[in-house]
Amino acid sequence: MSKIGMTTPLVEMDGDEMTRILWKMIKEELLLPFIDLKTEYYDLGLEHRNETNDQVTVDAANATKKYGVAVKCATITPNGARMDEYKLKEMWKSPNGTIRAMLDGTVFRAPIIVKGIEPCVRNWKKPITLARHAYGDVYKNAEMVIPGPGKVELVYTAQDGSETRELVHEFKGSGIVQGMHNLDASIESFARSCFTYALDTHQDLWFATKDTISKKYDHNFKDIFQEIYQGEFQEKFEKAGLTYFYTLIDDAVARVMKAEGGFIWACKNYDGDVMSDMVSSAFGSLAMMTSVLVSPQGYFEYEAAHGTVQRHYYKHLKGEETSTNSVATIFAWTGALRKRGELDNNQELVDFAGRLEKATLETIEGGQMTKDLALITSIPNPTVLNSRDFILAIRDRLN
Ligand code: NAP
Ligand code: MG
Repeated sequence: MSKIGMTTPLVEMDGDEMTRILWKMIKEELLLPFIDLKTEYYDLGLEHRNETNDQVTVDAANATKKYGVAVKCATITPNGARMDEYKLKEMWKSPNGTIRAMLDGTVFRAPIIVKGIEPCVRNWKKPITLARHAYGDVYKNAEMVIPGPGKVELVYTAQDGSETRELVHEFKGSGIVQGMHNLDASIESFARSCFTYALDTHQDLWFATKDTISKKYDHNFKDIFQEIYQGEFQEKFEKAGLTYFYTLIDDAVARVMKAEGGFIWACKNYDGDVMSDMVSSAFGSLAMMTSVLVSPQGYFEYEAAHGTVQRHYYKHLKGEETSTNSVATIFAWTGALRKRGELDNNQELVDFAGRLEKATLETIEGGQMTKDLALITSIPNPTVLNSRDFILAIRDRLN
């Protein structure tokens, strides 16, 4: 059998711990036998990040800008314990943070739907993709405890020294106060990423804020989305038969619960933090969740939504058997291969991505799965496989 060719390389970012083990197995068993795989390889494993003073992360992000499509393995974000464990020169920053800052992107997360793993919300038939704005608001706030009576104001000092003031509150007793900000440029790139991704995945886009109460702050989000929609995307949406739908956040929540899914829900930073945990747990499992970073320039970086599964890795190191779910990592690869295929007009590669996804889902639907899914499935008497055997079961179907 001849292998599927590729013209442009994928940017491949290897990672850490259990997901690094899965990464190698996925390549060896599910990709290399079928594809003449072309990648530009960057080792983002913590040891190599430390050796290169984290330059490898920057190089990988730059390569993503050059080639357009990347696939990333989960990586350790160092903390105190990791400093000792890996004898680090410095507490290197989160690679995802570095890459996100360089590509200026929005993260889209969607559940992988499979028969036998039912969402808690009965009417959810299709995935709900959450798009979270990742800059500002309460995550970059300034706060004060107000000890007693007094006046709190917002003061803007322009470059010419002139001041504009807005009274927050005349305190009669003690209390608290908080100041937050956002940037038009960041909101604009968030909006462009959302509209681009909606077109790309052929789904409607929903966006919601509390603009009736926050007549300047939230209203600015609403206005920027509306301007960018009308100026750059409306025609494309209409041609594709898609809708951009704006509503109030409380109305959106009510509608999401009653909807059948199949749309993108764009959220401000805090709403996205809260709602993505609700949506993902209601759909079943973090190991069944895809994640893609989309930059406003149209660069794509695919990954799994979960971490490096440290606890399983330590078991693996002790020679014990693990049953780690590789679905999200497999889907990171298929997402990237499909996108590469689309950009290069390589239909064989696009089709292969579809076949691998289908083989993966059919393996689970056929009752063969890892332990995390066996615990929540409605399929009677599932066969629990270890990490390798699950991948081999997929390979059998793919053959
Ligand atoms: P984690 O890797 O997501 O795992 C937390 C727990 O969730 C696991 O112990 C396991 O539960 C379950 N789990 C997650 N993925 C699974 C899978 N594929 N199959 C089966 N079970 C799975 O989070 P963590 O252990 O808190 O973090 C480990 C490292 O990952 C940290 O160093 C963190 O910095 C990093 N991290 C990286 C990313 C990223 O690169 N995108 C994201 C998050 C965290 P049981 O142990 O109960 O089986
Ligand atoms: Mg959260």
